[in-house]
Amino acid sequence: MSSIIDTYSEKFRKSGELYSKGHEIIPGGGHQSRVQKPFPYFVSNAKGSIKFDVDGNRIIDYMMGFGSLLLGHSHPAVIEKIANQLENGTHLGALSELELIWGEKVQDLIPSAQRVRFTNSGTEATLLAMRLARGFTGKKKIIKFIEHYHGWHDYAVPESGLNTEFGIPKDTLNSVVVLEPEISLIEDYLKNHDDVAAIIFEATGGHWGQFPLQNPTFVKDLRALTTKYGVIMIMDEVICGFRISKGGAQKRFDVVPDLTTMAKIVAGGLPGGSVAGDEKIMSLLSEQNGVQKIFHPGTFNANPVSATAGITTLDLISKEPINEMADQSAKKLKVGFREVFHKMEVKGHVHGIASIVHVVLGVEGEESSEGVSLVPHSELAKATMGNVPRMMKLAFLNEGIDIMGGMGFFLSAAHSDDDISETVGKFEKVITALRSDGVS
Ligand code: PMP
Repeated sequence: MSSIIDTYSEKFRKSGELYSKGHEIIPGGGHQSRVQKPFPYFVSNAKGSIKFDVDGNRIIDYMMGFGSLLLGHSHPAVIEKIANQLENGTHLGALSELELIWGEKVQDLIPSAQRVRFTNSGTEATLLAMRLARGFTGKKKIIKFIEHYHGWHDYAVPESGLNTEFGIPKDTLNSVVVLEPEISLIEDYLKNHDDVAAIIFEATGGHWGQFPLQNPTFVKDLRALTTKYGVIMIMDEVICGFRISKGGAQKRFDVVPDLTTMAKIVAGGLPGGSVAGDEKIMSLLSEQNGVQKIFHPGTFNANPVSATAGITTLDLISKEPINEMADQSAKKLKVGFREVFHKMEVKGHVHGIASIVHVVLGVEGEESSEGVSLVPHSELAKATMGNVPRMMKLAFLNEGIDIMGGMGFFLSAAHSDDDISETVGKFEKVITALRSDGVS
């Protein structure tokens, strides 16, 4: 049996050539989060749950636009509306009613969204939310949690998995406090420090649940704590918004944050993001008594094409059983993977909430409730970072399946039962390949 790397290098040969060329054009050879070793692969087109690469390989996709594509690739209704909008202008250089309709859709679905602002990405959304919180409270510090990811701007980088703070001023880093997501620790910190503007967090645990919450009441407890200490609660729903439920994690957990950050699904697979929240905080973005405290321009914010994709997607989510279909597929995938673990006597476990699935090799564990795990963070980190997930991703690609780094899967309403059975069947081959290469 040839090694995982040899099979990959052969199967994705043309991608390897493009990647070599890429180094002469783009530092690192291409977009940072698409790069993998020995080389990344280049996709040429996608539809539904399937994408095709430049070598002509057919691939079942569980990256789903890094979580953006709850409807699957190029949903016909979204494509039709975008195509019409392209005819009617890609940038109108003025307000467009589409922005209002888009904002109303967000208001309809997301409980905390008294007011809504659009950005171009999740990174911009968390940056704006932090500025709003600092402006509103007049305080400086932001608390974030270890391995919670909020984009790549300076205040989001510490302990986010990006591994370097190179190029970020010390003063900036000192204004961000990283804590373990544990209520007693957070309360201890707040008792002793009155300069905290906000706490930002991923509501399903770090890296969209790769490091799940360890306490089912954490989000509710955090709400109570932030209210008690007058700290702004920023729920980062860039991934879980519209996925964990139609109304995001806040609807599912019945917790209303002060500010919510969104991206990905909110813009229907096109570039876009959003900050929504309490009217008093959001009003810092509008003129009051002749003074506007925070400016938020941006050439492409709320652009009509992203607005159209966002409106169409949110409309479908609110009217059709999109979440239910994706959640069902995730359940089937989890059941199938557990059977493979059992059949092949693999030590490991599967967890995840709604349409998210995470695989962990080498560590036993059970979800105590959906999306909550009692496996210690350190054990999960050892199992889901480094060489094993890297080789698993390559081994899956060799079988025509693409998964997220960290051994995660995003399901969509476009994944069929056939996709799921094929994936479960291929998982056995992946395990065999990993064993044959001595990867554990
Ligand atoms: N917050 C979370 C929770 C995310 O997962 C991400 C991106 N994966 C971001 C913020 C940053 O979003 P973007 O990549 O659109 O800048």
